[in-house]
Amino acid sequence: MNEHDSERMAGILEAQGFIPAASADDAEMVILNTCSIRDKAEQKFYSELGRLAHLKSRSGKEVTIAVAGCIAQQEGEKLLSRTPSVDMVIGPSDIARLSAMIEKNRNSGTPVVETDGDPEYHQRLVPASRSDGLKAWVSIMYGCDNFCTYCVVPYLRGRERSRPPRDIIAEARGLGEQGYREVTLLGQNVNSYGKGLEDDCTFPELLRMMQDVDGIERIRFVTSHPRDLSDALIGAIRDLAKVCESIHLPVQSGADRVLALMNRRYTSAEYLDTVRKLRNAVPDMAITTDIIVGFPGETADDFACTMQLLQEVEYDNIFAFKYSQRPHTKALGLPGHLAEEVKEERLAQVLELQKGISLRKNEQHIGSVQEVLVEGASKKGGMLTGRTRGNKAANFIGPAHLRGSFVDVRITTAGPNSLSGELCE
Ligand code: SF4
Repeated sequence: MNEHDSERMAGILEAQGFIPAASADDAEMVILNTCSIRDKAEQKFYSELGRLAHLKSRSGKEVTIAVAGCIAQQEGEKLLSRTPSVDMVIGPSDIARLSAMIEKNRNSGTPVVETDGDPEYHQRLVPASRSDGLKAWVSIMYGCDNFCTYCVVPYLRGRERSRPPRDIIAEARGLGEQGYREVTLLGQNVNSYGKGLEDDCTFPELLRMMQDVDGIERIRFVTSHPRDLSDALIGAIRDLAKVCESIHLPVQSGADRVLALMNRRYTSAEYLDTVRKLRNAVPDMAITTDIIVGFPGETADDFACTMQLLQEVEYDNIFAFKYSQRPHTKALGLPGHLAEEVKEERLAQVLELQKGISLRKNEQHIGSVQEVLVEGASKKGGMLTGRTRGNKAANFIGPAHLRGSFVDVRITTAGPNSLSGELCE
């Protein structure tokens, strides 16, 4: 979501005549697009901001420093007193105001803060500067109504707003005409897309409209809240040829007690039932998830439930994190916050378990032929790399001109993070 917001800000800047600098040190303007989902991301931002502020005061150069994203939204004006070198503070729903803010800052010479949230942002066509040429993100909604107790997103990105389907399809058609082959539809909870729209449109209906967009051959989406994964959506994934067989379905914990404390509004049994339905409908569905270990009050038994769920589902991959205290959130006030060492120990156990599962899942592909969208040279010297429909990295030897093509690759070896194979005739 943040990377796509960065593309949108770059699009606005390019329309104003800016060009990308080789590095932040050479730039006239630096925008730090921030994430505050975990404390670590926030600390990284403050250390980078300190470095830039020092550079600005030392060099005496006319450089504009802007802070965007969720920390901008969270801190607002306070950022100016904390770091006087900051010239602009822009919230994630105020991006369309960037040009006006630059002008105001230049004319007045004083800092500008915009974090009120533009109520019409979801209806504005903000240009995006995309550089990939093959794969593009397209936002379909902003904000979230779920208020999971550990999560800061609803407070910073606001309540759920869906983009009109005609705007989404128009953007996707434009991408198809420019030669893009794959689109990932973005939203905090794409499954509930459509709430509050003037023209009724559900997420499965939007996928059906996307299926008809010329040029776009692969459709992906993130993120899906398990509670809202309807039978209609499972049917659309099964029936629509362009919708890839991969889904990110964050479970967060395997313990019902913890899920309730997190306000996830499903039990582990309901989650497993959804996974079963998905796999019955689409047997080779690749499933990934998010896990939070060390949520306040998580007991050893609760943690054991998470480990058991990982073994039962056998995810293709997971994104696991230690619980991180976030401002505004209800979880902050819960009893039983765990020591850092306990969280670290549990995280290590989860990662170790998943490493073996990911390897086994990938090894199941050995001998199969996978359709790969070729992205270019692999970091493994002399090879090309691309993604399978299940979103796994696949490396193989082939000519560079294949970039942008769909090719068949016979998988010969597998590691926990990628596949390797041979180009089929
Ligand atoms: S559904 Fe996702 S974005 Fe929304 S509150 Fe929960 S974790 Fe945060």
